[in-house]
Amino acid sequence: MRNDSIATARFRIGVRPATIHGRIAKCPCYIPGSLELLTAMQIRILGCSGGIGPGLRTTSLLVDGAVLIDAGTGVGDLPAGELAAIHTVLLTHSHLDHVCGLAFMADNLFGEIDHPLTVHAIPETLAVLREHVFNWRLWPDFTVLPDAEHPLIVLTPLVAGTRLSIGALTATAFRVSHTVPAVGYILDAGDGVFAFTGDTCATERIWTALNALPRLDHLMIEVAFPNQENALAERSRHFTPIGLRDELVKLRHRPMLHLTHAKPGTEAVIAEQCAVALSGWQYRHLRTGDQIVI
Ligand SMILES: [Zn+2]
Ligand SMILES: [Zn+2]
Repeated sequence: MRNDSIATARFRIGVRPATIHGRIAKCPCYIPGSLELLTAMQIRILGCSGGIGPGLRTTSLLVDGAVLIDAGTGVGDLPAGELAAIHTVLLTHSHLDHVCGLAFMADNLFGEIDHPLTVHAIPETLAVLREHVFNWRLWPDFTVLPDAEHPLIVLTPLVAGTRLSIGALTATAFRVSHTVPAVGYILDAGDGVFAFTGDTCATERIWTALNALPRLDHLMIEVAFPNQENALAERSRHFTPIGLRDELVKLRHRPMLHLTHAKPGTEAVIAEQCAVALSGWQYRHLRTGDQIVI
C-alpha cells in the first residue's frame, strides 16, 4: 500500500506501534486508548538533499518515530521530545552529510534520556566515527560519557545481509558502491517492503540484494547529478538520471521510486532529465517533510 496521507491509514483495535527495547516509541501515529492507528511503517523525510541551502536538509529518515536512518542536517529540525524518542540509528556510510547530526544529537540528548542511543553501522563507518568524530578533538567521546558503563552512544557493528530486529521492524543492510564503504537498508514491517540505497553508483550489489526479495514496494534511491555532470558523478560515485535508468533495468520489481540527494541548484534540471530517463516508472522527487506510509 502506498499512501502519503495518514488520514487513510488503517485502524486496528488493540495493536500498538513498534516498541524499541521494550518501550513504546513516541510515535506521532500512536493514539492512546482502545483505538490505535496502525501504520506498518511510517517514514518521515527529515532531509534528502545532497547539500545545504534554504529549505534544504541532508539525508535523514525517521521511521516510526524511533528509528533514524542517517543523521544528516535534517535531524536539527526535530523538537526535543521527538529527538528523545529516537533509540536506534542506522548509518549508511561515514560521509559528513549523513552523520553530522549524530554529533549534535548526542550533545542535545546528554542528560535528557535514560536509554542509550544504539548506532548500527558497518565496521568501516564506526571506525571513522571513533577516529574522526568522537575523539575528544572534533567532538567529545559520547561512547564513554557520562561513563563507560552507561554511555550515551553505543556503536554496534552490523554485517551486511544479516537481519536486524528492531521492535516490529526488520532491517537488513546491503552493500552498495560509493567512495567509502557504504550500505543501503531494506526495511520490512510485514505489510510492505521499503529499501533505501544511500549514496551509490552503478553496482550489481544493489540489484542482487533487491532481486532476492519476494516483494519491493518502495525504493528510495539517489540521483545526485544531472547528465552533463556524468564525469563528476562517476568520480564521486553517484547517479545521474541516465545512469539510474541504465541500472534500474536490472531490477525485477517495479516499486514506487523516491528520488533523493540532488545537489543544490540541480533539482530542476534533474527533474527534467528524469522525466525522460524514467519514463514508465512511478516516481517522485522527495522533499524535506515528505512522508512514505506503507
Ligand atoms: Zn556519500
Ligand atoms: Zn551523501
